[in-house]
Amino acid sequence: MIVLRLRYIDGARNLIEEHPHLVIDKQDNEKLYYEDMFEKAQPIHIEIGIGKGRFIHTLAKQFPNINFIGIEKFDSVIVRALEKSIDEPLPNLKLLRVDAGAIPIILKDHTVERVYLNFPDPWPKERHQKRRLTNRRFLKIYEDLLTENGEIHMKTDNKTLFDYSLEEIMFYDMELITITRDLHNSDVNCNIMTEFEEKYSKRGNKIFKLTAIYKEKK
Ligand code: SAH
Repeated sequence: MIVLRLRYIDGARNLIEEHPHLVIDKQDNEKLYYEDMFEKAQPIHIEIGIGKGRFIHTLAKQFPNINFIGIEKFDSVIVRALEKSIDEPLPNLKLLRVDAGAIPIILKDHTVERVYLNFPDPWPKERHQKRRLTNRRFLKIYEDLLTENGEIHMKTDNKTLFDYSLEEIMFYDMELITITRDLHNSDVNCNIMTEFEEKYSKRGNKIFKLTAIYKEKK
């Protein structure tokens, strides 16, 4: 079993290294140049923690006039999204294998218009709360990254994480634009289901969603 698993992880690494035009495997601290990544200069939206990548791939197909960057830290996971890009390459989608903590180092400030967080890891233990992607430390990272009126879109089925995220957003004095505690029975339409969303909603869990923006600093 262990041998098989290692072989698979090796396979993932090889596949990533063989497709540098689809997935950027960031190993240095240089800033990325969007001009080198995308054919067209157009607004940029990112998703952090893309998992197997269905959401961002579908979105990129639907919105060719937006450039999308899908961030995921694990080789063994991002490789699933990479397989989708290999089957159907999209000029406006690049995958980026890094930890979200590296965003301030590699993405230029005030260049992204929207950040999607779909089913982020809940990190239930209090002592791990700094790792939650809606912790105020990350809200600061997104604020620096986003352009004026930039948006955060978050979905989860985890009530504790959702309530925590609302508190952090309020603490950070952001403006809440939409909130629903039952997305699939709400009037929010054109929802693209993520892999986790499909799995957990099939189990009967309600899906929570919020959208928030940073208020203009006076
Ligand atoms: N968005 C997908 C996957 C959710 S699971 C879906 O809804 O189906 C959360 C994902 O976020 C995992 O794949 C995990 O590896 C990734 N992730 C968690 N913390 C991260 C971080 N700090 N930087 C990048 N990716 C992260």
